[in-house]
Amino acid sequence: MTVVLPGSTIGFLGGGQLGRMAAMAARTMGYDVHVLDPDAHCPARALASHVITAKWGDVDAAARLADGADVVTMEIEQIPVPALEAAQRLAPLHPSPAVLFIVQDRARQKEWLRDQGFPVGPFRVVRSADDVRAAQHEFGSCIVKATHGGYDGRGQARVHHDDEVNAAWASIGAPECVAESFLDLTAELSVMVARTEGGEMRAYAPSRNHHTDGVLTWSVIPSGFDPVIEQQAAEIACAIAERLGVVGLLAVELFLLDDGTLCVNELAPRPHNTYHHSERACVTSQFEQLVRAVCGLPLGDPEVVRPAAIYNLLGDIWTGQQAPDFAGVLALPGVRVHLYGKKEARPGRKMGHLSACGPTAEVALERVVAAYKLLAAGTVGV
Ligand code: ADP
Ligand code: MG
Repeated sequence: MTVVLPGSTIGFLGGGQLGRMAAMAARTMGYDVHVLDPDAHCPARALASHVITAKWGDVDAAARLADGADVVTMEIEQIPVPALEAAQRLAPLHPSPAVLFIVQDRARQKEWLRDQGFPVGPFRVVRSADDVRAAQHEFGSCIVKATHGGYDGRGQARVHHDDEVNAAWASIGAPECVAESFLDLTAELSVMVARTEGGEMRAYAPSRNHHTDGVLTWSVIPSGFDPVIEQQAAEIACAIAERLGVVGLLAVELFLLDDGTLCVNELAPRPHNTYHHSERACVTSQFEQLVRAVCGLPLGDPEVVRPAAIYNLLGDIWTGQQAPDFAGVLALPGVRVHLYGKKEARPGRKMGHLSACGPTAEVALERVVAAYKLLAAGTVGV
């Protein structure tokens, strides 16, 4: 097992907000940071001593990143395997191309989960509007998701009636999708697991998550779910991480259904929006944990020391390019503002988040919700 000590250089494939916050943790621990991202002004740029501006599939650029780094990790799962393999030839790469190969294709990921015996909802792989029609007839309502490239509810369409099929298929515009039965969700949760090359594994307590139109709105820890549910979720997540052999982080998104059972929604082998509160709530944040895991260091304690919640800030509450007035919310007890340094605000784009701690999860959540309302009330059009 390679141990990459502080003072070394970590290469990040991807310099978005996840890369930026992971890079901050790396910097805190004394690592140098290099970043590859297609956007020359990417959020992690501020933390990096060297930035390579190149497309995800650029094999030479990935090799250059690895050549200058002691270990390479990533903040995004959509990096083409040839680029990952090129990087892996020059530096340890965590998670491995084999893990990314399974996770980065939604159909392959769901089939893998099902074949390994993990609980997933009913789904079909679809390649035409007719396939979607058949799935809609079978499931009643379904949600169609592109196998590649979708995130934050993008590349998805919901189909409740036969007459919506053609428009839904055309709107996604992908050659292959997964059509999932539209499930009656009681709640959503996620579990973050960290695993090292040596097989040490630590799971965070589950996080309770709320989405609006497919995009995460808020997240709180501890989840407040029945301990039996929490235990089941942790067992499922750890079993998946172990079976995948992932090194680094694995976020497992789960649905809690009406009948009290859990099913796995999707996997993300990287830091995750639903654990941004770990910076405030836990002994070790998900970002520091990523650094420890990929560097072969002992994992940190993921224990929740105080409840915390986050509320996402989308570009919708920017007025043009004018950021909302943060002074008011910073006066509220326990509230912090986290911004990702994105130059351009667009509707639906994640610009930052609010976080708050509290004596209980309920209070922490109330605090971020109240802070968000105050912020949004001062914004035109909200
Ligand atoms: P993304 O990759 O964009 O996060 P997800 O598959 O996680 O896409 O879907 C985003 C959100 O849409 C989920 O968190 C959930 O709220 C809702 N959703 C997704 N799949 C289903 C489903 N089969 N039934 C009901 N709601 C769903
Ligand atoms: Mg998701």
